[in-house]
Amino acid sequence: MLLKIIVLTVIVIAVWHGFKFVGRLDSQRKAKLARQASEDAKIITDTVQCPTCNAYVNAAAPGSCGQADCPY
Ligand SMILES: [Zn+2]
Repeated sequence: MLLKIIVLTVIVIAVWHGFKFVGRLDSQRKAKLARQASEDAKIITDTVQCPTCNAYVNAAAPGSCGQADCPY
């Protein structure tokens, strides 16, 4: 009877630690995803379409597409 209680206690502790481990992996994964999302957000910039050549240029720092009548 005592052995059964000990074995049951060990199983409960093992399962508890297993859930803690899975929870830690999950939170690490979520933190990684959040970090990647914020890095992706930094890369994305607004673009505006050039009326002359229809090319999309960076709205923050528009550069000429090379055509003579390009407004940028
Ligand atoms: Zn242009």
